[in-house]
Amino acid sequence: MRFDLSTLYFLAIGTLALSAVMTLLERHARPLRRNELGILAAGYSALAAGCALAMGRTMFAGPLGASLANMVMMGGYLLIFQGVARLAGRKRGAISLAIFAFQALIWIAMGECCRDIIWNYISAFPIALVSGLTAWELWTNDRFRFLRSRRVALAFAAMHSLFYIGRAFVLPLAVPGFGPRLLGISSVFTMYEGVLYSVGLPMALMALLREETQDQLLQASRTDYLTGLGNRRWFFEEADSHIRNANADARTFLLAFDLDHFKAINDRFGHATGDRVLKLFAGFVRGIVGPAAILTRIGGEEFAALLTCKSHAEAAAIAQGVVSGFAEIVIDRENGVDVTATVSIGLAELGRDGNDLADLLSAADAALYRAKIGGRNRIEPAEPPAPDRTACGLEMRA
Ligand code: GH3
Ligand code: MG
Ligand code: MG
Repeated sequence: MRFDLSTLYFLAIGTLALSAVMTLLERHARPLRRNELGILAAGYSALAAGCALAMGRTMFAGPLGASLANMVMMGGYLLIFQGVARLAGRKRGAISLAIFAFQALIWIAMGECCRDIIWNYISAFPIALVSGLTAWELWTNDRFRFLRSRRVALAFAAMHSLFYIGRAFVLPLAVPGFGPRLLGISSVFTMYEGVLYSVGLPMALMALLREETQDQLLQASRTDYLTGLGNRRWFFEEADSHIRNANADARTFLLAFDLDHFKAINDRFGHATGDRVLKLFAGFVRGIVGPAAILTRIGGEEFAALLTCKSHAEAAAIAQGVVSGFAEIVIDRENGVDVTATVSIGLAELGRDGNDLADLLSAADAALYRAKIGGRNRIEPAEPPAPDRTACGLEMRA
């Protein structure tokens, strides 16, 4: 199989233009990534224009065609680098300008005398550098750490960088030994690798952004919008998995919270103030139960927390800390009146009051109901389950 250089150039121009169009279409579907996708599309377009100029570079006098083609391509690589850096919220304007200016200076200073040396070898170095920096940006992007496509995008950027390191440092040493035919062969390989890069990197970056959106949607489907806590659905998944994998030595407790007379707070101070009370309560409880507790807004003004404690007394003390601490907070001041609120809590223990999440929740709910009846602003532990009469043989005796 033989690859003709100009066919490969045409292929690269086509794939880059297609990548630019696909990226622009993707831009409409991802408003949060509009800027980054726009910069990437501009980068692919510049690379396509650079390839077209490279094909026709001999039509220009002196080093003009080669320098123009090379600088337009450099612009494309730098735009891709910018787009990838911005995916992590970083801006790399200064270093990009420095690389671009350095390359321009090389053409101005040495273009007349060393056009072919710059074109064949020296210009490969900044391309290797910028592709390496692009790979580095992907590698160090914490937002993408757990997304599968990150590795594919990283592999394409790193492969491109390694390839051009070879062109910059190995080719000048090999050509004198193997003769100028090696240059022709390496040009074909360069374009072949370029075609792969021009398809692989844009596809991988687009897959990455789709994965990111999917991840965000999943996250949103598990989060309570108002308080930022996990929602009911998230809680059932997390708590269930915690209970199934509970360590036999650790004691697990469920706290069921219900704000007192919350409807009256809404009626008196308005819904917006009610919302502020809910947000503040969420943050307050998180501060007391700690980051390891599985804390959720179950719905409305009801919250729940699953936590491990050494003893029943410790769990009751944590719950009492929430009750007393929250009652003391002045949440807002409306029309000269302090907005305060209180909470009632039901406490149940895994193994003692229920063996699964459903039983634990109903035991904590029953305790919460007693806390309400008992005057609110208090904690009530679940009543121990009634002794199993059948097991004691009482039923059989009756
Ligand atoms: P109790 O002490 O018996 O729990 O009385 P309560 O008024 O807290 O209970 P009730 O169930 O009668 O009222 C709950 C109120 O919570 C009614 C509803 O308007 C309000 N609520 C539910 N979700 C939200 C919300 O997202 N924001 C605000 N501001 N209010 C909410
Ligand atoms: Mg309620
Ligand atoms: Mg309530």
